[in-house]
Amino acid sequence: MQVTLAILKPSAIQRGILGEVISRFEKKGLQIVGMKMLNLTDNQLKIHYSHLVDKPYYGRIKDSMQASPVVVMALKGVDAVNVVRKITGATNGRDAVPGTIRGDFSISVQENIVHTSDSIETAELELKRFFETDEIFNYSQFNIRSIYAGDEY
Ligand code: ADP
Repeated sequence: MQVTLAILKPSAIQRGILGEVISRFEKKGLQIVGMKMLNLTDNQLKIHYSHLVDKPYYGRIKDSMQASPVVVMALKGVDAVNVVRKITGATNGRDAVPGTIRGDFSISVQENIVHTSDSIETAELELKRFFETDEIFNYSQFNIRSIYAGDEY
């Protein structure tokens, strides 16, 4: 089992689709093992988007990510990093395949509803960035036999 991070961006909150996005993760079979609302700080964003800090549009990304609180989620499942990334879709909502979150809810490269970790290593770092150890929960998923074959998890 892997745990990965999703950030439901201000675009999700402002558009009133938090529930729909969360529901997609739940319906896939992912287990929500952490979830909270917070305001992202300048420093958190600088680290989180360090690969974009030098881009001319970084200021816009920062303003967009601080336009309202965000919801951070820790999602657990077999191959969760890859699965969640596929559900998310391509960065640019205009290119994202219909059926993905960005493909269904976004028509923008910036206002693209959700961030999700892009590798196992990134997921570990990003979860530590936004969650304390005791904010990630370990609990039984009673319907796990309806979600996976016995040898899959
Ligand atoms: P992803 O979120 O798919 O992992 P990136 O790490 O490349 O993609 O970009 C991080 C976020 O920065 C994107 O989700 C998007 O909100 C924003 N972004 C990326 N490229 C642009 C751009 N050219 N103009 C505006 N915002 C952008």
